[in-house]
Amino acid sequence: MRLLPGQFLFRAGDPGRSAYLVESGTVEIRVEDPSGVRMIAACGPGEFVGEMAIIDGGTRSAHAVAATEAVLYEIPAEQFARRLAEADPIVRLSLGILLRRLRGMLGAEAGLDLPVRTDAVDLAAAALEEVRLERELAAAIRKGQLELHYQPIVDLPTGRLAGLEALVRWKHPTRGFLSPAVFVPIAEASGLITELTRWAVAEVCRVMPDLAIAAAACPEACAMPVVAVNVSGRDLGAAGFADEIEARLAEQGIDPRLLKLEITESTLMADPEEAITVLKRLRAAGIGIAVDDFGTGYSSLAYLARLPFTTLKVDRSFVAGMSEPTGLRIVQTIIRLADQLAVPVVAEGIETAAQHAELVQLGCRYGQGWLFGRPQPLGAALETVRTWGSRLRRIADADLEKAPPVALAG
Ligand code: C2E
Ligand code: MG
Ligand code: MG
Repeated sequence: MRLLPGQFLFRAGDPGRSAYLVESGTVEIRVEDPSGVRMIAACGPGEFVGEMAIIDGGTRSAHAVAATEAVLYEIPAEQFARRLAEADPIVRLSLGILLRRLRGMLGAEAGLDLPVRTDAVDLAAAALEEVRLERELAAAIRKGQLELHYQPIVDLPTGRLAGLEALVRWKHPTRGFLSPAVFVPIAEASGLITELTRWAVAEVCRVMPDLAIAAAACPEACAMPVVAVNVSGRDLGAAGFADEIEARLAEQGIDPRLLKLEITESTLMADPEEAITVLKRLRAAGIGIAVDDFGTGYSSLAYLARLPFTTLKVDRSFVAGMSEPTGLRIVQTIIRLADQLAVPVVAEGIETAAQHAELVQLGCRYGQGWLFGRPQPLGAALETVRTWGSRLRRIADADLEKAPPVALAG
């Protein structure tokens, strides 16, 4: 946007809808009181104008006027709010406090009582809640309040048990079981994820021998189960990550091929070069690598081709969408892509016999979902593995025979 000398960008009292980055020229911030108009700041190239109102939710506290011809880059409030929401809660809180103080100082200087909107208070409360949760999570990891639940991964054509995915749960003392959707993003933002992952990998290695014994109790229904643990792309940058995993496996005498690391596409793409290096190392040690939630992020296929992954996991939103012809084609395309890359697919979120049958027809090798079993605490999961034979018969009888045939051309 271009302003001519003397032109107003906004006036005091206007609602704050955008912030502006000055690209060239000068914009003056002026306050008006009974004694007249005074310039309190001159903003030049690289400086922000009008950011206060959109951060603390208030109205414009001063006029902004072009002192010379000026070119500005407009950042709408929603875009600013989105970026701010992704920022660390401490940064958000500090910014809010500093801006309110600045507003107070400017108001005092101008002899005005500058308004602050009440939703700024809600923002502060939300940021405080996040800080509190972060502190509690750090303590929870130390106190052993986290628990892994295990969900079966099934060989779809036969119904045999192929493995399990370990999914973290937080047994919060007052709020009950908390979903990873609530606290994993906080762990990632605060850096606590490294500790969480270290704990999860150690826990999985601890229970793997028991799972293998349970599977050996019914060899006709269970392969040696591969256990998948979710890790964050951020973990890959942590010093000693690969060393530590290899050490844990060696301590328990576990075949590295029985461990799989699941990494979501979006966190992988944050630093693909680093991911490639670390994953190659883990892969060389024999550990499996799965790209989780495939198709939901913005992965570059060029990078994907360089990643040494061994499994592609189709996000459950695609499985849910298979009832529509376009959704079905998307899943078919992902399965074909994986075929071309010679890696098997695990379909997530299989809830119905029809989805199971369709996936088998599309050539999808593995799957998980409530149809086969929900994530369960260790004791129940061990029992599930031991008795998989009876489920196997149920899956074979009910799902494949009674499911409707899939109509899909090409
Ligand atoms: P994910 O790795 O894609 O895990 C699959 C999610 O789908 C799990 O949610 C699982 O409970 C759920 N699910 C499985 N089958 C069905 C189904 O048939 N229907 C429906 N509606 N849902 C199904 P959960 O356990 O809430 O985990 C959510 C996400 O949190 C995981 O998605 C993963 O990205 C993350 N996560 C879980 N545990 C860990 C962990 O230990 N470390 C890290 N870094 N992330 C984790
Ligand atoms: Mg996963
Ligand atoms: Mg997933």
